[in-house]
Amino acid sequence: MANKLKVLVTGAAGRMGREVVRAISAEADMEVVAAIDPSFAAANPDTDAGVLAGVGRLGVDVQPGLSDALYRTTPDVVVDFTQPASVMDNLRLVLGDGVNAVVGTTGLTDADLTEIRQLCSTNDARCLVAPNFAIGAVLMMQFVKAAARHMPDCEIIEMHHNKKLDAPSGTAMKTAEIVAAARTGASPDATQKVILEGARGGDFEGIKVHSIRMPGFVASQEVIFGGQGQTLTIRHDTLDRSSFMPGVVLGIRRIGGRSGLVYGLDALLET
Ligand code: NAP
Repeated sequence: MANKLKVLVTGAAGRMGREVVRAISAEADMEVVAAIDPSFAAANPDTDAGVLAGVGRLGVDVQPGLSDALYRTTPDVVVDFTQPASVMDNLRLVLGDGVNAVVGTTGLTDADLTEIRQLCSTNDARCLVAPNFAIGAVLMMQFVKAAARHMPDCEIIEMHHNKKLDAPSGTAMKTAEIVAAARTGASPDATQKVILEGARGGDFEGIKVHSIRMPGFVASQEVIFGGQGQTLTIRHDTLDRSSFMPGVVLGIRRIGGRSGLVYGLDALLET
């Protein structure tokens, strides 16, 4: 068999990071060569990333230092599921070293995406940024695009667990962008007396976005379209974090064959 793809996982002790370690270790053509999570590693030295992920010993301890691990293990791909405040520093190191990245961390701004594009072109690196790795969510966005052409009045409600650090979700923002680009001629709201600040949600180019945060949810979204005498609701529910893994594994396999910044899993599914 050809050499395995060497993968470094950042955020390896987090909820998604552990799932990523589990998913990679189940694939024959890739392996985890390094696992980074600074504060976890400081508090729990000598913890094997595989044991932590529940797949048994991989011989890869969770480490604090990304630069050192990049130098030591020369990965083909870095997978980042960390936090909005960490991801850009990580990518400056990773893409700056000419290493390809698959990014699931949400909360990236347009300025961040511009910087990532620049880092890729300066260092001949590739980077997949996917606000949602679940195939059902990608299909939801495709259906939303079709619906918005015919039913331009739309609101988005997204529901996540209460540990999520950003709002609205990256998926909701991407959905709102798709609706805004696809629709023409939405109906304006009546002039309103807003009794409770924020009751109508956030506003992206006239599309209202509502964020719910509570225990019990992983990630769900409803996109509601209103038309004359009818509504259409397109809903996607992520029931557990394993739903993201086929998309992450696909990203790891395919990103090397692309160029620059690839935004959204749908761009990779088409090839
Ligand atoms: P989490 O459980 O908080 O895990 C994040 C982990 O990253 C934590 O262990 C954190 O450590 C660690 N970390 C922070 N800074 C780091 C750094 N510089 N280098 C390495 N590790 C670092 O969060 P999660 O639920 O796994 O979610 C992670 C991200 O993925 C979030 O942005 C979330 O919105 C996103 N997400 C995306 C998708 C998608 O499909 N794209 C799906 C689910 C989640 P400390 O806690 O000690 O700081």
